[in-house]
Amino acid sequence: MKHPLGSPYVRDQISLRTLPLNEKRLQPEGEFVLYWMQSTQRLEDNWGLRLATIEADRVGKPLLIHQGLDPSYAYASARFHTFIMQGARELALRAGSLGLTYRFALRRRLDDDRRVLDRLAARAALVVTDLFPTAGVAERSQRFANRVNCRVLAVDSVGVVPAASFHKEEYAARTIRPKIAKLVDLSIEPVDDRAPKRTMTPSLLSSLGVEWLDIVNCDIAAEVSRCEIDHDVRAVSTHGGLSHARSKLDGFVSDGLHDYSERRRNPSDDGGSSRLSPYLHYGMISPLDVVSAVRTNAPTEQGDAFLNEMLTWRELSLNFCLRNPNHGALSALPDWVQRSMDAHAGDEREILYSLDELDRAATHDPIWNAGQRELLETGQMHNVVRMLWGKSVITWAPTYAEALAWLLHLNNKYGLDGRDPNSFAGIQWCFGKFDRPFASRPVWGTIRPMSLERAHAKYEVADYISRWSQDVSERQLELV
Ligand SMILES: Cc1cc2nc3c(=O)[nH]c(=O)nc-3n(C[C@H](O)[C@H](O)[C@H](O)COP(=O)(O)OP(=O)(O)OC[C@H]3O[C@@H](n4cnc5c(N)ncnc54)[C@H](O)[C@@H]3O)c2cc1C
Repeated sequence: MKHPLGSPYVRDQISLRTLPLNEKRLQPEGEFVLYWMQSTQRLEDNWGLRLATIEADRVGKPLLIHQGLDPSYAYASARFHTFIMQGARELALRAGSLGLTYRFALRRRLDDDRRVLDRLAARAALVVTDLFPTAGVAERSQRFANRVNCRVLAVDSVGVVPAASFHKEEYAARTIRPKIAKLVDLSIEPVDDRAPKRTMTPSLLSSLGVEWLDIVNCDIAAEVSRCEIDHDVRAVSTHGGLSHARSKLDGFVSDGLHDYSERRRNPSDDGGSSRLSPYLHYGMISPLDVVSAVRTNAPTEQGDAFLNEMLTWRELSLNFCLRNPNHGALSALPDWVQRSMDAHAGDEREILYSLDELDRAATHDPIWNAGQRELLETGQMHNVVRMLWGKSVITWAPTYAEALAWLLHLNNKYGLDGRDPNSFAGIQWCFGKFDRPFASRPVWGTIRPMSLERAHAKYEVADYISRWSQDVSERQLELV
């Protein structure tokens, strides 16, 4: 049985997931409730949208869902803009049939009108938005909440279990795993989503004076080309939107999931993991959908292996970024890593590369270059290669601080799943976060080492290397 929207279960979940961003009053004269969609780009299993719907009905007003795309976010590029707009098109197409009013606004240039959201908030009774610790969402939401006059609430739909269930920073997978196990069944009870009782009238919408984009009929590529963003980071063939995420999930559940623990360790096997991380990052697919599909379809052992990544490591990453404000700095690392870095800061680095050489995939190692080219061309990188990719830079950069900054830069500039809590946690893992000390070695100190030389023998990399062996520019010339 599904829980109705106003039921005690739903209210309990919402109160755990909601963080007020200011202490301002609900504006009784406001004409609608505004749900400002940022990092949860979906209409189902969206706790922010659920709260906005409940509140709209409570105060007897309609609900407006507004999503804006701006050229000023970090690493704004044709790649990310295209993926987001493809997802937005699906949202617009489906919103009507769900009884929802959804609008999408594109701010093309930095000097275009930047106050659309503020103008909407000035007419709203209440604003609900998404809670997300990275990609600039938390800072943007807080600045907005400080300057507008109505109440602003941020709601967490990132994890399966409400992030607030874990009050402190968790230090390892082993500490958060049993806590998730206790809460997961309670957190995935189904909810009967429904439309708000009142709808936005055409006259109210047009009185708002916002130039929304006709996202359903526009030429996305042409629109993106007019935006003041990085056009060198090009759109990729991975298509944004829930239907594409679902078909990836279906394909994975019927194929790769059955041998997940083996196949995900094979870089040459393209179907060995779900490749859902871009969709999860933008909230285009609900983690609950993924977890439920896997629980229903997988043999226990393989399902458990997948859920260890999808639940334990993903929610540990979220907890890290929410609870540790230094998640992007070396100071987030444990004491034993700090001592090790102090002791080995002056060790000679036998091989040194510049950030530019790394960016161009111009190192001596074919696995590393192949991983970087996969990232450059597709916005994704095989998980095993990503670990080797991250670890190697620790020994190739002049300092640990540069290694961290360069990895974050490359990952977040090119990765379709970049700027995610997983990005920070995954990269910090390379430096020893969530891990234990190992026998001391030059430069590595006591950080777990990973050797590219040994990886050639340990993993099936031949096909992977040959797939990504060409220089990106050569490959592009061939395509022309
Ligand atoms: C250096 C480095 C950088 C990373 N950067 C990112 C990043 O920018 N964005 C990102 O989503 N992940 C990142 N990861 C974690 C992991 O590599 C990717 O989540 C995974 O490879 C994505 O592929 P998939 O969707 O096929 O994963 P699957 O194996 O199919 O797993 C399903 C989902 O579980 C989650 N997941 C899987 N592995 C991990 C993990 N180790 N930690 C946390 N969550 C996990 C992801 O959301 C993933 O989509 C990074 C890891 C490392 C070592």
